[in-house]
Amino acid sequence: MRHTEEVAIGLDIGGTNIKSGIVNANGEVIHHLNLPTKAHEGGEALLSRITEITEEMKQYSDSRGWKVTGVGIGTAGQVNSRTGIVMGATDNLPGWSGMELGNWLQSMTGLSVLVDNDANAMAFGEAWVGAGRQWKDFICITLGTGVGGCLIIDHRRYPGRDGFAGEIGHHVIQFDGYPCNCGRTGCWEQYASATGLMKLVREVGADLAEVHKPENVFVLAQNGNEAAIHVLEQYSRYIAVGLANMVHMFNPEGIVIGGAITGQGDFLLNPVRSQLSQQLLPVFRERAEEIGVVAASLGIMVVLLGL
Ligand SMILES: [Zn+2]
Repeated sequence: MRHTEEVAIGLDIGGTNIKSGIVNANGEVIHHLNLPTKAHEGGEALLSRITEITEEMKQYSDSRGWKVTGVGIGTAGQVNSRTGIVMGATDNLPGWSGMELGNWLQSMTGLSVLVDNDANAMAFGEAWVGAGRQWKDFICITLGTGVGGCLIIDHRRYPGRDGFAGEIGHHVIQFDGYPCNCGRTGCWEQYASATGLMKLVREVGADLAEVHKPENVFVLAQNGNEAAIHVLEQYSRYIAVGLANMVHMFNPEGIVIGGAITGQGDFLLNPVRSQLSQQLLPVFRERAEEIGVVAASLGIMVVLLGL
C-alpha cells in the first residue's frame, strides 16, 4: 500500500528574492525555488506573487501525491504572528505594511498559513534543530537586503510588548551616517547587509567596477584582489561593530548569522570573529573565543521548521 507523504510549503520573503520550498516530515527539503521579489511593484503585486508560488508548490505536491499540511512564511518586516498581518516594513518592501498576508493566502489556497518575521522564523528553526540548539541565550541575525534580528533568551524568543523586539538592523552605528529606509540615518543595516557590502564596492569605484553581486567580491578577494580584500576587511568591521553592541547588551552564548552571504563560511566569519574580539570590553574579550559566531545551518528549511 502506498503511504501518502505529508509535506509543508515554506516561503522566505526578502527584499530581493523569495525562496520557497517543500519539506517532508523528516525535515528534508524535497523541492525548492528561488525567484526575484520584484519589491518595487508594491504590496498587492507581492501578495499575488506569493499566492502564485504557493499554488505552484501545491500543484507540484499534488502531482506527486504528497499531502500539503500547511504553509509557513517568514517575511522581512514586523509581523503580528497571531493575525498574520504585516504590521510594518521599510522601503525594502514598499507597500508591504498593512497586508493581511495570512488571511489572504489562506482564503486563496485553502491551506492553513502561519506568518512571522523572517529572523524569528530562522531563530525558531535554529533553536530547535540548528546551530542554536546548544545554547540557552543567543542572537540570530540575517544579512540580506536588510538586517533582521531575533533574541532567544532562556530558549525562548524574547518578543517585547508587541512582538516586535529584535530590530537589531536599525540600531545606529554611525550618527549622521547613510540614510536608512526606516527614516533614520546610520542604521547598522546600511553597513552590515549585503546591500551595505555593495555600497562599499561602489565606493571603491573603478577597481571593482565589474562587481555586481556580493559573491563576486569574495571570489576576487580569494584570488588576491587588493581592493576586494580591503572591502571585505571593512565589511567585517561593520558586521563586528553591531555584534559587539549586542554582546555587550545581552551577553549571549552565541550568534547565528543567516542570509545567502553566510554561504561564504569562515572566509567571512573568521575576520568577523577577530574584529568582534577586538571591539569587546575586556571582561567579554577574555572569553571571546567562547562566544560562538556561526552561520545558520538550515537555509530555507529554517522557515519551514521554524513555524
Ligand atoms: Zn533603519
